[in-house]
Amino acid sequence: MRCAAVVVAAGRGSRFGAGHNKVLLPLGGRSVLERSLDALADSSGVEALVVVAHRDDLPALRDRRSDLGRGKVVAIVEGGARRLDSVAAGVRACPEQARNVAIHDAARPLIRAEVIERALEASERAGGAVVAMAAVDTVKRSINGIRVDATLPRSEIFLAQTPQIFRREPFLRALEAAIASGRDFTDDAAVAEAAGIPVEIVMGDGENLKITYQEDLPRAEAILAKREGAATPAPFRVGTGFDVHRLVPGRRCVLGGIEIESPVGPLGHSDGDALLHAVADALLGAAGLDDLGTLFSDRNPKYKDADSRKLLAECVAQVRRAGFVVNNVDAFLVLERPKIAPHREAMRASIASILEVSPSQVNVKGKTAEGLGALGAGDAVAAQATVLLQSVLVRCVGS
Ligand code: MG
Repeated sequence: MRCAAVVVAAGRGSRFGAGHNKVLLPLGGRSVLERSLDALADSSGVEALVVVAHRDDLPALRDRRSDLGRGKVVAIVEGGARRLDSVAAGVRACPEQARNVAIHDAARPLIRAEVIERALEASERAGGAVVAMAAVDTVKRSINGIRVDATLPRSEIFLAQTPQIFRREPFLRALEAAIASGRDFTDDAAVAEAAGIPVEIVMGDGENLKITYQEDLPRAEAILAKREGAATPAPFRVGTGFDVHRLVPGRRCVLGGIEIESPVGPLGHSDGDALLHAVADALLGAAGLDDLGTLFSDRNPKYKDADSRKLLAECVAQVRRAGFVVNNVDAFLVLERPKIAPHREAMRASIASILEVSPSQVNVKGKTAEGLGALGAGDAVAAQATVLLQSVLVRCVGS
């Protein structure tokens, strides 16, 4: 047997958000772990797979063993407290007839078969191989994290990825020696290096990304879609909202969440804030949710004279639960008077604070209707808003 691969999935992904094992999240319809196993199994040199998992995930994975990694999974073992212990548990479970062992992060689902093959050839030739990328940025060394002690020659710097592949027997001895030494190793090649095993660098590619933060999932999905030749929707959603309210004497004039001095104000069941209503409908529309009138019926006495800032805040919460954050809002008011220009900045700040974004992400402008129709006669105020939402793929984390 040319090579067995150990896939390390024992971490809990604390950088990703509490309580979720990021490698069990879906990526293009399959879990990140399943995709990593398939990617290794698709390399003809890899003939057996060992999964190292967290204790909590063992039963579910073992139930599905025959479905994983194209049927090449020979063992699913429990990980240890440190990466070193997890890797050692996996390597011990590899078939003894395997000449080489590949260690791979379960969070790197986009590894290509050609890269695995090159690393396997290097391991057979040299004894060890690490897939790595040449440094793009200059690397500074600082011992106290403040003062620069040295600038490292960039041409000599390589950033290690996985797989890291080694001749199995010498590497297993190196692992046992590392554990006995009491030293911790967070990188597998460093274990081999400490034991005097030569390790070669094999050039990886920028697509072999490690799913570390939530925002890595849409990037990985885009790479997969490109490889599969499919067009996937961009992680943006646009929405529009419109509202109109009659202007009558004796009503408070509340627009954009601020009160403006005016002899007339918008008539409505709520405070009649047409601008906030337009923004709310744009948000709800972009997220594919029910419109404002459905959520807060003007027949419900609960919303009589309601503060539209509260209604908008509730819409923002719903949009967030649906997995979106606000990228920006552009809105305009159409009314003859009062003039909007002196209040623009206050409206932007008011809307931004409800949306929990920066005022730079909110734009408001005023127009007149040139004396035409009810708007031009000053009998009504109209508002229109466009918003852009960005998906945060909360749906993945929640599943
Ligand atoms: Mg309204």
